[in-house]
Amino acid sequence: MNRADAEEMLANLLLQLEEAESLSAGAIAREIVQIGFRCERCGDCCRGEENSVALFPFEIREIMAAVGGEGWLDVAEPPLEGEWDIEGNFHTLEWRLRKEGRDCKYYSEEGCRIYKARPLLCQTYPFYLEEGRLRWSDCRGLGGEIGFEEAQKIADLLKRRQIVEIKEAIDLIRKYEDFERGEPSPYGMCIVHDSEGVHEIEWSKIPGALGRRLRRSGSR
Ligand code: SF4
Repeated sequence: MNRADAEEMLANLLLQLEEAESLSAGAIAREIVQIGFRCERCGDCCRGEENSVALFPFEIREIMAAVGGEGWLDVAEPPLEGEWDIEGNFHTLEWRLRKEGRDCKYYSEEGCRIYKARPLLCQTYPFYLEEGRLRWSDCRGLGGEIGFEEAQKIADLLKRRQIVEIKEAIDLIRKYEDFERGEPSPYGMCIVHDSEGVHEIEWSKIPGALGRRLRRSGSR
């Protein structure tokens, strides 16, 4: 992303922010009531290969505070999508909630172990906003009965998340430092660019399978 691209993206994001701030949560809530939703507590959204929860840095901190004794990389991990620079470093632009095997690490048979601190994406599932429009993912609970008050809570959270997402993207672009593209390598670092700046992580500090997978893709 060169400077001109960054300026264009920033201008676009500022427009999106205005639109998001003027969204009517009441209208979204009415739509949710019409679609219907009642969580069946099946845990399907917390398990399996498809489960992947994008996290903002402040959400990582909230989870760390809620669970206690866990560090940043115990809570979050970089995704597999990214690019390599000429020094063999892997760059990526977001954080995901850590998984254990195929499931979210905080999922248990009894339910979510971080329920009160769960990320906004989890709080609003299966709904999300795309360019201000309400969308939803596959979910057994769709069609269930939901009152306006509960729908309004989801709508408020959806609007909040949309605004936060755009603000985070604006901060990310403002702090983003571009790099020259190169080939995958097992020897560089993992570099995550987020709204707070640049996090350089040694592969050995990324616990679990993800680090190994990333290292393998780096040594192709
Ligand atoms: S944080 Fe909780 S609600 Fe979100 S995916 Fe993990 S177990 Fe499910």
